[in-house]
Amino acid sequence: MIIPKSKEEIELMRESALVVSRTLGMLAKEVKPGVTTNQLNKMAEDFIRSQGAIPGFLGLYDCPSTLLTSVNDAVVHGLPTDVPLKEGDIVAIDCGAIKNEFYGDHAYTFEVGEVDPEVQKLLRITKESLYIGIREFKAGNRVGDVGYAIQKYCEAHGYGVVRELVGHGLGRKMHEDPELPNYGRRGRGKKFIEGMTIALEPMINMGTHKVKQLSDGWTIVTRDGQPSAHFEHNIALVDGKPELLSTFDYVYEALGIKSDEEDEFRAK
Ligand code: MG
Ligand code: MG
Repeated sequence: MIIPKSKEEIELMRESALVVSRTLGMLAKEVKPGVTTNQLNKMAEDFIRSQGAIPGFLGLYDCPSTLLTSVNDAVVHGLPTDVPLKEGDIVAIDCGAIKNEFYGDHAYTFEVGEVDPEVQKLLRITKESLYIGIREFKAGNRVGDVGYAIQKYCEAHGYGVVRELVGHGLGRKMHEDPELPNYGRRGRGKKFIEGMTIALEPMINMGTHKVKQLSDGWTIVTRDGQPSAHFEHNIALVDGKPELLSTFDYVYEALGIKSDEEDEFRAK
C-alpha cells in the first residue's frame, strides 16, 4: 500500500534527504586515490550524527555500515573495506539517514582521479536516465512509465539495466510501496498518487544487465566484470509534479561543477 505524506511530512522528509545530500557533498571532497571506503564510512557516520540524525543503513537488515560503497564492477550494496581507492576507479556511494523518524536515501557515483572517457559516459548517461525517470513521476502516470523511460534511454546506449534491484517508496520505512523497477512497460503498474514519496535509483551496467552476489552476502557485481553506475534521488509528488527532496548541489559545489539539471524539479 502506498503511503502518501502530508505537506508537513514532506518537509520533514526534505530535512532527512538533505542530511544525506550534505553527507555526499562532504564525501565528494574526500574521494581520491589512497582513501579507503572504511575511512569514508567513518567520516559519513560522524557527519550524520553531527547533524542530529542517525545513520539509516547501519543495523537495517543487519547492515554493518553507514555507507554502501560499490567500486567499479560492484553495482550496489558493496561493504566498505580497507582497500584504498585508486586512480581511475569509480565508487558508487549510497547513504541513508533518519531524522524526525523519516528516512533519506540517495546515492552518487564518484570518479576517483582521472577516469576512462567510456566510464565517464556510463556515469553521465546513468545520471541523465535518473532525471528522465523523475520526469515521468507525475499525476496520471504509473510505475511502468518511469521504468520504461529509464530502460529505453539506457539500452539505446547499449547498456544493461539491472533487473534484480529496484527503487522504492520512502518514508518512515526505508522501503515502502511501490517497488520502482528501472525497466517496464508504459501504462503498467501502480498509479502514482499525490503526496507519495520515492527513492528512484537506476543501476546501469556498461555490459550485460546480469549480476551476481559475492560471498560476503552483500556486494552485487556485474556478471561480466564491466563497470556499473548508480545514482539515486528522493522525490515527492506535489501538485501532480515531481519535486526533488534531495540534491546533488553539495556534491557539485565540492567538485566545482555547474549544473542546472535539478532546476525543473525544485520546490516552487
Ligand atoms: Mg540508496
Ligand atoms: Mg534506495
